[in-house]
Amino acid sequence: MTFAATVLTLYPEMFPGPLAQSIAGRALEDRKWSLDTLQIRDFATDKHHTVDDTPAGGGAGMVLKADVLGSAIDAARERQPDAPVLAMSPRGASLTQERVRQLSAGPGVSILCGRFEGFDERIFEARDVEEVSIGDYVLSGGEIGALVLLDACIRLLPGVMGAASSGEEESFETGLLEYPHYTRPVEWEGRAIPEVLRSGDHAKIAAWRKARAEEDTRLRRPDLWERYRSASGQSPSGAQRNKTRDE
Ligand code: SAH
Repeated sequence: MTFAATVLTLYPEMFPGPLAQSIAGRALEDRKWSLDTLQIRDFATDKHHTVDDTPAGGGAGMVLKADVLGSAIDAARERQPDAPVLAMSPRGASLTQERVRQLSAGPGVSILCGRFEGFDERIFEARDVEEVSIGDYVLSGGEIGALVLLDACIRLLPGVMGAASSGEEESFETGLLEYPHYTRPVEWEGRAIPEVLRSGDHAKIAAWRKARAEEDTRLRRPDLWERYRSASGQSPSGAQRNKTRDE
């Protein structure tokens, strides 16, 4: 099955852009995913192809028009009735690896890219559209967000990543950040690769990696750590979860 992406944008020439390279590019050539763009401007009905207008209530910038967006969303849905329609927006729910995994397991996705001040709010009332943010900062347009979202989905498609298992231990998949990596040379600028990783003792290596994943998550991302701890019923000492895991 091909994961089908439709991007609704004023800048279709930005696609596939970086997704034509490396892992995603190879997968595109191999038809593991497909990409279509819809030019939002094509859905404007006046002779100037107007897509935006000044904000009601005043203020800076321009707002993408509901009538134009509504028609563009309807066209995307007609092409892909089963794919969810996402709108890139800093007001949306933060994108998570969990949501990425769900999306990549589905038929594909239609992504609406904003520009200027964003969308007329009524499209979210009138259409089934999921607002998605890629982080707490403001981009000049949704296109780069769409590329981020697609890249994250594509690498999870069957047969896209080299080793089938290489997605499973990664940051966020287990609720933790991943442990740190090292590769040769064994010594670089006086710094050695941790001894345990060179020991060949797989149980010891696994234990070290788990401990580092937990410690780094606790120190770097207290928010993730709290969630992980409450989900796994771990006591503050860490004893309880380790016990449950060993059973
Ligand atoms: N006035 C808006 C920002 C508009 S930025 C506000 O303050 O909320 C223009 C467009 O860029 C948005 O419509 C959206 O499509 C995209 N965009 C900006 N920041 C984003 C983010 N963090 N995540 C996803 N899309 C974003």
